[in-house]
Amino acid sequence: MADREFGFATRTVHAGCRPDPTTGARALPIYQSTSFVFEDAEAAASYFNLQEYGNTYSRIVNPTVAAFEERVANLDGGVGAVAFASGLAAQSAAFFTLLQPGDHVVSSSALYGGTITQLKHFLGKLSVGLDFVDPDDPDAWKAALTPDTKLLFAETIGNPGGNILDIEKVAAIARQHDTPLMIDNTFATPYLCKPLDWGADIVVYSATKFLGGHGTSLGGVVVDSGDFNWSNGRFPVVADPSPAYHGLSFHDTFGFYGYLTKLRAETLRDLGAALSPFNAFLLAQGIETLPLRMRQHVANARAVAAFLESDDRVGRVSYPGLASSPYRELVRKYLPEGPSSVFCFDLPGGREHGVRFIEALTLFSHLANVGDAKSLVIHPASTTHRQLGDAELSAAGIGPGTIRLSIGLEDADDLIWDIERGLAALEDTN
Ligand SMILES: *Cc1c(COP(=O)(O)O)cnc(C)c1O
Repeated sequence: MADREFGFATRTVHAGCRPDPTTGARALPIYQSTSFVFEDAEAAASYFNLQEYGNTYSRIVNPTVAAFEERVANLDGGVGAVAFASGLAAQSAAFFTLLQPGDHVVSSSALYGGTITQLKHFLGKLSVGLDFVDPDDPDAWKAALTPDTKLLFAETIGNPGGNILDIEKVAAIARQHDTPLMIDNTFATPYLCKPLDWGADIVVYSATKFLGGHGTSLGGVVVDSGDFNWSNGRFPVVADPSPAYHGLSFHDTFGFYGYLTKLRAETLRDLGAALSPFNAFLLAQGIETLPLRMRQHVANARAVAAFLESDDRVGRVSYPGLASSPYRELVRKYLPEGPSSVFCFDLPGGREHGVRFIEALTLFSHLANVGDAKSLVIHPASTTHRQLGDAELSAAGIGPGTIRLSIGLEDADDLIWDIERGLAALEDTN
């Protein structure tokens, strides 16, 4: 192979996976083995010294998981990736690897509910300070920076308000402060947007969602651009000799691969939230149809959002793919093929109408997930964002009658038929 840059679709089916050299298997084999026999004592020692890369123990490396990691890193244009048992495990590890007590994080307020709780309470317990800012306001990002700020965090497409991040602008603010920008690109996937191309330093995914795409398997992954200078004097936790790895200086020793090596050899080793080979197989399999699926998700979401917007029983529809969206210009720049298929709309009748609408649906499944081949629906105020107070709810763009949809791969006409039934149910008794 070689002197050709293969296209995205080609890489979704080939990256990370060659025919198995021992058996000839063309599909990715599931190496369901906790551990791997060393060639000899010298090889064993060099693996544990991180002098050579080899299979040791599946909490740290596994060939099926490695194929999935390589596939995602390739699609995102990163230097590498490390996979985890879930999206939140990936985020915990990504944070843990670069932060220490006393550090401070500036984050978008428009986030997945679980991430808000994780940043506030999990990182709070580790004495990491935090400020949430309006992601659309560059001045708010700048104003929140302190000398201790070591991370800027946001989602490409904010959940559930549909805020599209001006990645280039926020990346410039981060760079000026010698601080990495980490982006949760779960909703966009690398097919719709590659944040590393716009100046982000690290990308995290819940692979549970669109990457896997079938709602079968939890997984998460961290992709690194390899470009951040961890030896700028602000990140002793990555640059200094590590007592947890016999005095190894990760950035000095591994250069652009330093953060990822520490993420795997220390953080994944110690947190232990490894992705199972079986889930890695299912997630890698899912990625093989990523371009086809994302195109259909977007087309269906456009049709459903247009229907909702034209119906006067419905309040605000926050799909950034609508021509009326305030994010239309940012969508054109960062997500030219469309802003995925998760969005919200408001029922003016509030909480009670939200519940009645959801109960009248038959094709949409009422559950707490997004990015499935099947269409999903939820009422965030009573479920995913239940832990948040009213002020945090409204900062995240959620009202009492807000309904979140994740549009799947069914026929759009059938989805609209189902939503029509849900809206009709509101009129019955009022
Ligand atoms: C689901 C989700 C997460 C968390 O991922 P898990 O795999 O459930 O741990 C993080 N961010 C976003 C945007 C998500 O949708």
